[in-house]
Amino acid sequence: MSVDLHLHSRYSDGSVEPAGLVEMAIAAGLTAVALTDHDCFEGIVEARAAAAGKIRFIPGVELSVDWAGSGLHLLAWWVEPDSPLDLELEEVRQSRAERNLAMIAALNELGHPVTLEQVMRISEKGVVGRPHLAQALLELGVVETEGQAFAEYLASGKPAYRSRKRLSLQRAVELVRTSGGVTAVAHPHTVADNADEFATAFDKFAALGVTGVECWYPEYPREQREAMAKMATRYGLVPTGGSDYHGTHKPGLEVGTGRGDLVVPDRVLEQLATRRP
Ligand code: AMP
Ligand code: ZN
Ligand code: FE
Ligand code: FE
Repeated sequence: MSVDLHLHSRYSDGSVEPAGLVEMAIAAGLTAVALTDHDCFEGIVEARAAAAGKIRFIPGVELSVDWAGSGLHLLAWWVEPDSPLDLELEEVRQSRAERNLAMIAALNELGHPVTLEQVMRISEKGVVGRPHLAQALLELGVVETEGQAFAEYLASGKPAYRSRKRLSLQRAVELVRTSGGVTAVAHPHTVADNADEFATAFDKFAALGVTGVECWYPEYPREQREAMAKMATRYGLVPTGGSDYHGTHKPGLEVGTGRGDLVVPDRVLEQLATRRP
């Protein structure tokens, strides 16, 4: 029996509505599903309503936070709209909006006529992010894939990249706790390259009060998932997992099973639940 604790809806940069995600989780035979949109809680009401009486639903979010001078993604579960976390994120969302304008202006200066109207139409609702700018560039024929848009324009260090305000990892962990939730560092390959670096990072995460790290991730070979889970446990962190499903914006992934071989055991959710404040 398995769960999926990392999913994106149309309220951030996924292509599927919250209710559609819940239906996919039910069809996949999962026992629980979380919604973890980037920096926003807008899809939670719809997802919860779709899940009622059919599958266990966990309200969540994926936060972009500062750590060691760069960014990492922090998943949080059992956090709700209008929680202290949501209220403090309002500033982050405002900074995102300013950054979108700055990135559009940078693309215009490079000769690409992306407009805010176009990006808002693509995003439709919720939080607007770089994946929507990538789709705008695709629509205009400037690039052939969203990946190319990141590689040439939108990734950190590329000409149209602009930074934005982020919470520190420590502040984010505190706010999630105050809001009644638990946290896990998402796709930890973004913070370390080898076993020594993972050990150092996991030690620091545990010291900061992070609850878990995402070990069952579609992009990791099976042996790496297991090795990472063992290391996480050694540092007192709960190994978590999920598909990071984004619908058509990240092709080849399925809710629950990732690239076909992902299994996130139910016990993960029970382990996380026991760590709730
Ligand atoms: P934002 O939150 O607006 O900075 O956008 C971050 C999102 O962009 C990530 O969650 C990914 O979904 C996507 N992303 C980041 N880097 C890349 C990349 N190199 N190729 C494709 N998508 C990316
Ligand atoms: Zn995303
Ligand atoms: Fe992420
Ligand atoms: Fe994600």
